Amino acid sequence: MQKAISGTMVRGVVTALLLLLAWGCGGTSAEDTGAVRAGSPDAVSAEYEGHDEHGDVPEAAGEPSPLDGQGTATVAAAGPAEAGAPGTWTITYTAAGEGIAEGGGVVLQVSPFWNWSAPQDRFAEYPGYTTVRCSDPDVRLELATGQHPFMVARIRGKALSAGETITFVYGDTGGGANPGGAAQADRYAEHGENFFLKVDGDGDEFFAPIARHPAVDVAAGPPVGFYVTARSWVSRGEAFRVTVSALDRVWNRAASYRGRVELVLPAGLELVEGAKGPYTAAEAGARGFTLRAVEEGLFQITARDPEGRLGEGTSNTVFCGEMLNDYRLYWGDLHGHSRLSDGSGSPDDYLGYARDVAGLDVSVLTDHDGHGILPLDANPDLFGQILRATEAFNEPGRFITFGGYEWTNWTYGHKHVLFLDPAEAEIFSFRDPECDEPEELWEHLRGKQAMTLNHHTGGGPIATDWDHHDPEFERLVEIVSIHGISEYYGGPRSIYRPVPGTFAQDALARGYRLGMVGSGDSHNGHPGTRDVSAATHGLAGIYATGLTREEIWEALYERRVFATAGRRIVVNFLVNGEMMGSEITVADPGEPRLIMGLAVGTAAVERVEVLKNNQVMYAEAGEGELLHRFAAVDESVAADGDWYYLRVTLVDGEQAWSSPVWVTVVEEPSGSASG
Ligand SMILES: [Zn+2]
Ligand SMILES: [Zn+2]
Repeated sequence: MQKAISGTMVRGVVTALLLLLAWGCGGTSAEDTGAVRAGSPDAVSAEYEGHDEHGDVPEAAGEPSPLDGQGTATVAAAGPAEAGAPGTWTITYTAAGEGIAEGGGVVLQVSPFWNWSAPQDRFAEYPGYTTVRCSDPDVRLELATGQHPFMVARIRGKALSAGETITFVYGDTGGGANPGGAAQADRYAEHGENFFLKVDGDGDEFFAPIARHPAVDVAAGPPVGFYVTARSWVSRGEAFRVTVSALDRVWNRAASYRGRVELVLPAGLELVEGAKGPYTAAEAGARGFTLRAVEEGLFQITARDPEGRLGEGTSNTVFCGEMLNDYRLYWGDLHGHSRLSDGSGSPDDYLGYARDVAGLDVSVLTDHDGHGILPLDANPDLFGQILRATEAFNEPGRFITFGGYEWTNWTYGHKHVLFLDPAEAEIFSFRDPECDEPEELWEHLRGKQAMTLNHHTGGGPIATDWDHHDPEFERLVEIVSIHGISEYYGGPRSIYRPVPGTFAQDALARGYRLGMVGSGDSHNGHPGTRDVSAATHGLAGIYATGLTREEIWEALYERRVFATAGRRIVVNFLVNGEMMGSEITVADPGEPRLIMGLAVGTAAVERVEVLKNNQVMYAEAGEGELLHRFAAVDESVAADGDWYYLRVTLVDGEQAWSSPVWVTVVEEPSGSASG
């Protein structure tokens, strides 16, 4: 039996590649708090079932040879590439060494991430029309295209000698005569996007990549609105950071924005520091301000363009109130991808967006071990590039990163692997027969400060096999991301292709002691904000003593974390005064447990629910306020292994979940069954 403790007494509202994207999720509006309000983001229909095998293109038939992969290439663009906009790129390959034998060839592969037109040579008025020519008039080119967006030019008639060229005009409009033939660029802004070239030098159908692929930058589209984030929980008098970014319609960072911004501050907040003039090139569309709360309360900060061209943005809710214990609340996104596997953007783009646009405190880039055009497990220099960026961005007190990658196992499920020290980070690939089972992965990780997190556990693209678990490394589970929510089978905004028995609640029911986090699993280079094609995203709220690697790691390991489906909803949850993630000891199982917590929504709180052993044990309706405090008592007899967690739902359907608290009973109750 449980009963609420006098609600009025304790609840009080304080003052005021062949990613053939076939998916079902509808588009998301960006109209929530903190979102870009102007312009309507494209509601694409795409599903990240995109963890597909991206094999060699075309299918490798022959054997690698030193004659393969020779030569160099350059790219010339007709103008600056803009995300999602049409363009023409001229890619010129120059043969080297032994040249290319008759029957050999060159593959131009366009990134399958995200929405580059597939090159095609058949319809001049349709996107991606590509013409190919050779500098040697006696060489005949035989063209073919494939589902992974590529074009192969095979050499016929005679061999291609060193110094001769093959030129692909990708998006050829015939000098403007056929504008429809232009190629559409990636919809996401980024630096250093590659056009990949692979060469079969000896004519046995084995194509090897050349040493250096030409690259282009893709700029954001026109800015449409501001996105604003602020620290969510501050004490009175504490200075805190607010970020204000100009974004385009798909949430790309509008780095070329040179307009102004004006902050509208509610009473109780004051500006400590922040530039007043137009955005500069160095800011690249994202500006930071420092504010201070001079009184307790709930605040939202609005950013507006004095010229009225960009839409207003309003921040998440800032709660200025008493802190609990010595912990500070930080926001993290512990899982996402860059163009070094199947995402968009460079590692610097990714981490820069996380810090400057999303205003995150913690970010980890976890590219796939064995997916992408140039998989990390076969290209250690690329993993080195990620780790160097990871180290360069880590700044105690400001922004924390960890080493990471994703073990992309298609039998047992995916796990992203975090390393406290990036110097210890190593790719233990799911493609390595020594490391293709979870126990083997953990064996390789033993001795390192590492964690593995199962994600999209409840279904697509692949569910978790919970028969395998290691409590040393599996401290947390990612219950929400762009793929949907994996709390329990049949829940709202569920992960697609749900598999009963594989949800977070199923793992808890097995007795696994897992804290709950959300993270993006973003593939668009937008960690910590949004993917306009996904109905959910994911964030991790982290209660740590400070913003250093060691302190954040300690908080993750101790599970002082909670999950949200993307919004900065503040959640706190305590049982017998112990924080979420704790294992509490009960000497007298008959003694009631005191359960309390709070939620601060980005919209009004609709309800809070305390779940005990996966069942709703206590619920309270919200009262139309952003802040909701509650307390309840569980008077039933405690059983060893009981767990409690909190689920918060806002009036707009957004949700957050605390990590559980587990009960250990040290003495058996005499003569009565436990409840
Ligand atoms: Zn995955
Ligand atoms: Zn992933």
